[in-house]
Amino acid sequence: MGKEAAPGEHPPKGATDDVIWRQLPAVSSLLNTEKGRALVQEFSHHQVVSAIRHTLAQIRQELRSRVEAFPPSAAVILEQATAFLRRQQQRSLRRVINATGIIIHTNLGRSSLAEEARQAIFEIAGGYSNLEYDLESGERGSRQGHVEELLCRLTGAEAALVVNNNAAAVLLALQTVAAGREVIVSRGQLVEIGGSFRIPEVMAASGAILVEVGTTNKTKLADYSRAINERTAVLLMVHPSNYRITGFTASVSLEELISLGQQKGLPVMFDAGSGYLLDLGVEALAAEPVVQKAIQSGAALVTFSGDKLLGGPQAGIILGRRELIARMRSNPLARALRIDKLSLAALEATLRLYLDPMTARTRIPTWRRLTLPMEEIERRAKALTEMLQRVQPELAISIEPQESQAGGGSLPEEGLPTLAVTIRHPLLSAEGLARRLRQNDPPIIVRVAHQQVLLDPRTLEAEEFSFIAEALSKIGGGQKAE
Ligand SMILES: *Cc1c(COP(=O)(O)O)cnc(C)c1O
Repeated sequence: MGKEAAPGEHPPKGATDDVIWRQLPAVSSLLNTEKGRALVQEFSHHQVVSAIRHTLAQIRQELRSRVEAFPPSAAVILEQATAFLRRQQQRSLRRVINATGIIIHTNLGRSSLAEEARQAIFEIAGGYSNLEYDLESGERGSRQGHVEELLCRLTGAEAALVVNNNAAAVLLALQTVAAGREVIVSRGQLVEIGGSFRIPEVMAASGAILVEVGTTNKTKLADYSRAINERTAVLLMVHPSNYRITGFTASVSLEELISLGQQKGLPVMFDAGSGYLLDLGVEALAAEPVVQKAIQSGAALVTFSGDKLLGGPQAGIILGRRELIARMRSNPLARALRIDKLSLAALEATLRLYLDPMTARTRIPTWRRLTLPMEEIERRAKALTEMLQRVQPELAISIEPQESQAGGGSLPEEGLPTLAVTIRHPLLSAEGLARRLRQNDPPIIVRVAHQQVLLDPRTLEAEEFSFIAEALSKIGGGQKAE
């Protein structure tokens, strides 16, 4: 090491900040050490200076809050600055490997996009596009034009509008058709979804007045009927998604509510949640509302997410009557909630895949995972087991019947049968092993049950197996448990 500032002396009792500060080496002297010069080579002068300043400021802060404190040596300061530079170099938002078997995992980014959608993002991101430009006339166009017709064709709706997410869709719809007026909802449907979307709160934000009818477990058509008055704007139905009321229950079907709405001349709005367009008879999805059916039944507005069962990017889709959609389009809030061009590109590409249901099933990862045949799951489970056993013979690995989950609010109870690869480490606890896997690059996210780590091949791609094997081999089998 080159010129090194010696560790400072203990500051005299009652030292002021100024005294402590003067005992720390100067930025220029730190830069002038061997280590400092190496860092400048690796990063840049600008970044190293700013990392050193940041580190010195932190040390100053720490010294201030302690009575007995020695200023650290130059080597220690540079070590801290290096750690800061390395942390800064790594992107915070990173790809992870999802071995949990939860297909639409909200914390892990919900749906993975089809190759077609990824290509569309790549192409549109790198250049200019006809986002709001009509190539025919050479005049201004609408970003909605890229998907509206497609959505109408796929669902049978009269008109469509896409926004940032489904929460925005519900907000815009209610604000447009019901601000200052009453919206009737069953008490059993005042749900909270994903910890932040609460129907009563979205309703309040829209300026609509919530009228709750029925009780938590029972709501009858007569309850809606009695609540209708001249201030009523909409009858709202919300798919409870992540929650079921079972036992002594009664609820009104969408069809019944629509026929009541027709009698009273009131529109029915349906928040379908998931965007289920592909009724392939997946047993675990039997309770999910199919979007086309809701439109066919005569719902005036249907809203859903782009990144749940639809398998596309984050987006909110509003389908419905032409006149209502037109009012939403000219609502100033629509501008604040509008979809960005990259999501729009991915959404259009995803929707195009639905023009042929078999293509959608095989090209959209969410659907591929939902309908993965048991033989394929078994094949993957065996291949993964073999690979792991080979790199890490000390692990106790077996294959066990388990359940995967659709996730994303679909189906709180029913799982999809799967075969999980279970791992026990000779020294690490299951939680400890899960933590080590999470710290891997790329991070591997697993489920822990019955003191075992579970890897569900349903949400893993074959290319990801080698990352898991490598991670386990790095963790090792014989070292001391933490
Ligand atoms: C998920 C969900 C929402 C929120 O959708 P985001 O796209 O996450 O904003 C709203 N309503 C229902 C019924 C849902 O299931």
